[in-house]
Amino acid sequence: MSISFHSTNYRAPKTDFFTAVLTGQAPDRGLYMPERIPLIDKAAFQKFSGAEYFEAAFSVLRLFLDGISDEALLAKCKKAYSFMPRLEKASGKKHLLWLDTGPTASFKDFAAQMMSPLMGHKLKEGEKLFILTATSGDTGSAIANAFHNIPNIEIIILFPINEVTPNQRKQMTTLGGNVKTIAVSGKFDDCQAMVKEAFADERLQKLRLSSANSINIARLIPQSVYFIWAYAQLVKDTGEDVIFSIPSGNFGDMMGAVLAWKMGLPVKKLIVATNANDEFPAFMKSGKYAKIEPSRMCISNAMNVGHPSNLTRLIDVFGGRMDEKGSLLKAPDMEKMRAFIHAVPVSDENTRKCIFDTYKKESIVLEPHGAVAWYALEEFLKEHEEENETLCISLETANPAKFPEEINKILGISPVVPESLSKLDKLKEDYIKMDANYDDFYKYLETAGR
Ligand SMILES: *Cc1c(COP(=O)(O)O)cnc(C)c1O
Repeated sequence: MSISFHSTNYRAPKTDFFTAVLTGQAPDRGLYMPERIPLIDKAAFQKFSGAEYFEAAFSVLRLFLDGISDEALLAKCKKAYSFMPRLEKASGKKHLLWLDTGPTASFKDFAAQMMSPLMGHKLKEGEKLFILTATSGDTGSAIANAFHNIPNIEIIILFPINEVTPNQRKQMTTLGGNVKTIAVSGKFDDCQAMVKEAFADERLQKLRLSSANSINIARLIPQSVYFIWAYAQLVKDTGEDVIFSIPSGNFGDMMGAVLAWKMGLPVKKLIVATNANDEFPAFMKSGKYAKIEPSRMCISNAMNVGHPSNLTRLIDVFGGRMDEKGSLLKAPDMEKMRAFIHAVPVSDENTRKCIFDTYKKESIVLEPHGAVAWYALEEFLKEHEEENETLCISLETANPAKFPEEINKILGISPVVPESLSKLDKLKEDYIKMDANYDDFYKYLETAGR
């Protein structure tokens, strides 16, 4: 039975998967969510343990998508996932799920590599699609890499000039071709606001604009796969519970876990670990939501988000309503949410301490994002001794070599550099600079569309 998609603002018509993918944000500025979430049966879960990653991806996506044949979908999954996540055991029942194995060494590759063929799938001959993306670091490079040289698609990436590392910047600005990059004198939230404004701008209706941010449903669904896959690798009996700890910024990753849970994965607790941008942990405590403006700069820079776009989806799942500005129109079931989600902020100081301690105790080199989740997990286990026998999986969302300065300061060593990063220094950068001003961005798009 086919699944339709509704907007979290409920003022746009329901639509099918591929229309939702090409639209990005719904016309009423809400985000698309599946009307119902399909269940994966037990037998399928068990099959995943011996399966290749792309086969697991196919099985999960198949449940949500219409309008594409089995053969075509399987071929796209196979092409997208020439890499797979890596599980590492630590002390007790704790594990790390390394999602840094893709072409740009961040977890965003898992979504971006799958989204690009899905977006290309329904594009007609001669149709041109503009993809606008605001990035706080890793999205831009993952998107740029996934869409580079895909015909009929032009990628425009906005990043905050002072909030990305040189390596992150080079991963976006050295591709050229259909990948255009704009360095904005502002914060991530400014970039995001410019992109959102463009989507809502009537004058730009003549251009076909779409988004590759985590607001796109084609990024969200693939992000549920690695939770299911990781669980299946570690557990023989599907009765066993699991706790996930997730370093969170814009909440795309954690929504992947929520989908997996809704599909039947026995997630006992979801630890949502933020950096000092603690608007969500504060909301969980008080029931009152206030975004943080401007967002706070932290060493886990891909998580410097003062208002997570995907929060509206989480609220939707728990029966509430939040509009695109972050106003809570209807409270979600806070009790249910608190029973399932443990939300905590982690300071930069504790993030550094965690990188240091984990290296000493476990001989594992974490990077700042993964360390936020790891710290939150360890604190949670200290407070809940009864959970020390529960399977725990903490996500590592980037390769430590993306943050060599920080790692070196803390550990006095240089992380091993993967090939995808080492080649960057030889390439030429190309980007333009822009103020955090929508009019300038509008003019740019106007010209690009001619
Ligand atoms: C984007 C990113 C995150 C945050 O993921 P969200 O889906 O935005 O919550 C965490 N770690 C790294 C390395 C990232 O690039």
